[in-house]
Amino acid sequence: MVRGELARLAREGQRPSQLFLTCADSRLVTSMITSSGPGDLFVVRNVGNLVPLPGEESGDDSVAAAIEYAVDVLKVRSITVCGHSGCGAMQALLNSAPQEGRTPLERWLRHGLPSLERLAGDSGSWARLAGRAAADTVEQLCLTNVVQQLAHLRAHGSVARAQAEGALELHGMYFHVGEAQAYLLAGADEDKVFEHVTGTEEVPSPA
Ligand SMILES: [Zn+2]
Repeated sequence: MVRGELARLAREGQRPSQLFLTCADSRLVTSMITSSGPGDLFVVRNVGNLVPLPGEESGDDSVAAAIEYAVDVLKVRSITVCGHSGCGAMQALLNSAPQEGRTPLERWLRHGLPSLERLAGDSGSWARLAGRAAADTVEQLCLTNVVQQLAHLRAHGSVARAQAEGALELHGMYFHVGEAQAYLLAGADEDKVFEHVTGTEEVPSPA
């Protein structure tokens, strides 16, 4: 069905307009969530949709490399960080903050600690859903983690440069698996409210 389109993309090369960073969770189907097809999204997936802060990668440059490539080489116009309901990584963070770092999973989840700290702090820095309260602490952390990881993204040199030139937008998204519903972080980062996306909207607009 997509052979013609893939042949064109093979000839012309990829020119995705968006970097989409989400969790490795098997219930998230990126093409379904964003109504996208081949060539549309440059995708990074990892446990908990985390963006290590520059200097904190502990030997794993894969996320930073993907960001640099997407922004500096592919010249994507937007980056979306997409969290989701029932995230096992966020649940694990809540259950036991990974102080020890004895296993690869524990070491990786440390990149989520700033999200936990944000959640433990002033409730004014939490993210929320428009229209309803977060179902529980895990959902509250899933939402707040998206806002925190967007802050980590801004600390990357290529992102900061492209944003200063007005060439790059950052978006936060939350996908509720049970509702099959996407929520988009509205406006700038300061209000931290995720709004329900209706069926007629593009998710998110690559304009
Ligand atoms: Zn997850």
